[in-house]
Amino acid sequence: MSGITLNRRQIMLTAVSAAAGLILPTGGMALAQAASSTPSMAQGGNAGGNVGYYRLSIGDISATVLSDGLIGGPPRVYASNAPEAELEEVLRQAFLPTDHLTLNLNTLLIETNGRRILLEAGAGQTMGPQGGRIFDNLAAIGLRPEDIDVVVVSHTHPDHVGNLRMANGGKAFPRATVFAPRADWDFFIRNDPDLSYMPVPEDFRRHFAAAIKRSVEPVTNGIELYEAGAEIVPGLTTLPALGHTPGMANFLVHSGNDQLLLTADLAYHPIVNIDHSWLPGPDRDKDTALASRRRIFDMAAADRLPVLGFHFPFPGLGRMLKTDTGYAWVPANWQF
Ligand SMILES: [Zn+2]
Repeated sequence: MSGITLNRRQIMLTAVSAAAGLILPTGGMALAQAASSTPSMAQGGNAGGNVGYYRLSIGDISATVLSDGLIGGPPRVYASNAPEAELEEVLRQAFLPTDHLTLNLNTLLIETNGRRILLEAGAGQTMGPQGGRIFDNLAAIGLRPEDIDVVVVSHTHPDHVGNLRMANGGKAFPRATVFAPRADWDFFIRNDPDLSYMPVPEDFRRHFAAAIKRSVEPVTNGIELYEAGAEIVPGLTTLPALGHTPGMANFLVHSGNDQLLLTADLAYHPIVNIDHSWLPGPDRDKDTALASRRRIFDMAAADRLPVLGFHFPFPGLGRMLKTDTGYAWVPANWQF
């Protein structure tokens, strides 16, 4: 421990602000982590030197999950309608802390027809100091940011667009064409969004909205806006998954008979949003989000699709199982 003492209110505020996407000085976040009693294994990180990339193929398309690191916050934020005692019990049974839920940031690089396409930009430092690892992981597979031709984001929350901007304000992926859903662009960037639906204080909402505008500012000129449902390039189709945000898409990567479904933020953590069907607090339109979740999870289960969850434990790959009461997440075995 750091020996620094924090009062309870500071700790609570810092924890909530991390979930809300508030940009805090690194010191504040570090203090929140130092104050947490969470074991380092559950917190993740790469203090042990573990890899943050994972290769797979989808037919002729080669793909690599590139971790941008971690974010997280109070479990309640991600399971807004869970009875408190039940939520704590579920977390305890999964050997997870009851005061903090860690989420991964699993971006996917696909290489097809000579183009390198990054699905989700990642958080960077917009939601705490444990994001922004994508550049190290790109380097680990021998690539530089200028090797990325296209970036497609599922929606424009800060943890999906944060890495578009370098610290100096320039484009982080200097050659890339960036695709974002039009309805999100209209809601979050062209207007001042009403974020009163988010279960966080007003101050945090303001910072959340500002982090989005700031992150996309370098790519505003030349942005390609798409409607969820559009095909971006052959082998990459977007599917409407509206509700979490006005324009959120899912991605279907396909080649030959092989497919991979990327579920974006339909679920934050399998334990609370798949194995239990609790509703993510940040869903803007909870009914529409629930309908999207059921439609796409049903399809994934019926077609036995391999699935990648952006926020699931790295590398985030598995399959969706339909059960008597809902769904279950079945992680894929690690392949070498
Ligand atoms: Zn997210």
